[in-house]
Amino acid sequence: MISKQDASLVNSIGWRFENTYARLPEYFFVRVQPAAVQAPAVVVLNHALAKTLGLNTRRLSDSDAAALFSGQIIPAGADPLAQAYAGHQFGSFTMLGDGRAILLGEHRTPDGRLVDVQFKGSGQTPFSRRGDGRAALGPMLREYLISEAMHSLGIPTTRSLAVVLTGEPVYRDRVLRGAVLTRVAASHVRVGTFEFLAAQQNVEGIRILVAYAIDRLYPELKEQRNQPLALLDAVAARQAELVAAWQCVGFIHGVMNTDNMALSGETIDYGPCAFMDRYDPDTVFSSIDHMGRYAYGQQPRIAQWNLAKFAETLLPVLAPDWDDAIALAQEVIREFPARFERAWLSAMRRKLGLATNQPEDKALIDGLLDWMHHAKADFTNTFRGLATGAALGENDERFMQWHRQWSGRLQAEGTSLGSAQNRMRTANPAVIPRNHKVEEALSGAEMNNMEPMMALLEAVGRPFEDGAHHGGFREPAPEGAEPYQTFCGT
Ligand code: AMP
Ligand code: MG
Repeated sequence: MISKQDASLVNSIGWRFENTYARLPEYFFVRVQPAAVQAPAVVVLNHALAKTLGLNTRRLSDSDAAALFSGQIIPAGADPLAQAYAGHQFGSFTMLGDGRAILLGEHRTPDGRLVDVQFKGSGQTPFSRRGDGRAALGPMLREYLISEAMHSLGIPTTRSLAVVLTGEPVYRDRVLRGAVLTRVAASHVRVGTFEFLAAQQNVEGIRILVAYAIDRLYPELKEQRNQPLALLDAVAARQAELVAAWQCVGFIHGVMNTDNMALSGETIDYGPCAFMDRYDPDTVFSSIDHMGRYAYGQQPRIAQWNLAKFAETLLPVLAPDWDDAIALAQEVIREFPARFERAWLSAMRRKLGLATNQPEDKALIDGLLDWMHHAKADFTNTFRGLATGAALGENDERFMQWHRQWSGRLQAEGTSLGSAQNRMRTANPAVIPRNHKVEEALSGAEMNNMEPMMALLEAVGRPFEDGAHHGGFREPAPEGAEPYQTFCGT
């Protein structure tokens, strides 16, 4: 039972709710309360993130924190709701909506940002269809771990504030323990939110959502004459940067459906995602991605495809004349590959310690990637090895040839190897959440041993610093290990 005293403590940790989404027209969402659960218990609570949000979670007892982050006590000022959206999943259009997520509310941080605080796995909503609205512990911890790792790698992402067990079973292919993840995002508006309105030919709704997204995420565009066009362009720019950042750490999202592309440019929805070990552009980990639609090397093209779906929803508001609207949209979409390549080249130059731009840089980068592909080299350790001067392919003439080319390139711009390597150590992580280590951490947690999870969180939390916290986390899975597979952990 929740006492009055608990509620007042939960209210006193610094919440400042300003719920803008709840003030949109009623067709954007459905108000809904998180389900009551038997025996909530905290598994992990991100006090450091809470602090940056202005929330003093250290004041909470374990049971208060569990009650808060399982939705048993709703803090004053919250206005829980499930958002309506649609999306193209593996290319097919579907009406969706928050079927297992509930937006608790939007919270104003001390540095003035407005962030969504959302529960995932907190029970059914009118969008649940046949689903139970619940989530299992493993996938929620996986999202917690990988999203926090992405943040430490400097990649825009939703954050994870807490994972709490519900004390109730969830029924999947076997019985698992239910859990709730608290996710923090700049906003959960996604390409699929626009598609939901477009599917109903709700042009007024599209106008409202364009204004909302600009106000919330791109306030610098408020003075632009053609706001929908400015928004499309700005979203394309952020996606180009985001996917370039993914490519540079070998991150494979795994399920780049349009409902999983956030307008904010944050990485969202960590389902079957994983990091590539050996460099191979065809790498796919998701058990359901038989065609390799979302393979590593496809991610830039899929981002463009998703942006085209976004642009289609904007056609009725881009220009009074249909042909003009199409021309404006096409210009942005056609520009995307070049835009992506610029973002990717500049990120790759940082990885190779290059301070200037030269026309032959693309060939230099491709030369290294080709060698890595051919030599089945580990993506992360190769780049980190270049940054630290570790032995890589010294007996391999092809590698040595590339290395001479790279050294020559550095010399030509007047950069010493040492100063290039100093910079490179801030662009090439020593540690990523390696698949076998993630599995080890999750199976530990499954047996109530949180030690491997905490050690991995510590290691991926400071990925650019060499140190004892990296011990054992840098090696790829042993030779001959089963090919890694991920599942859409719902
Ligand atoms: P996701 O795979 O998390 O992107 O989810 C895709 C869609 O399926 C969203 O509309 C979710 O709300 C819905 N969904 C996923 N799992 C469940 C579940 N256990 N219960 C209800 N809806 C779900
Ligand atoms: Mg999703």
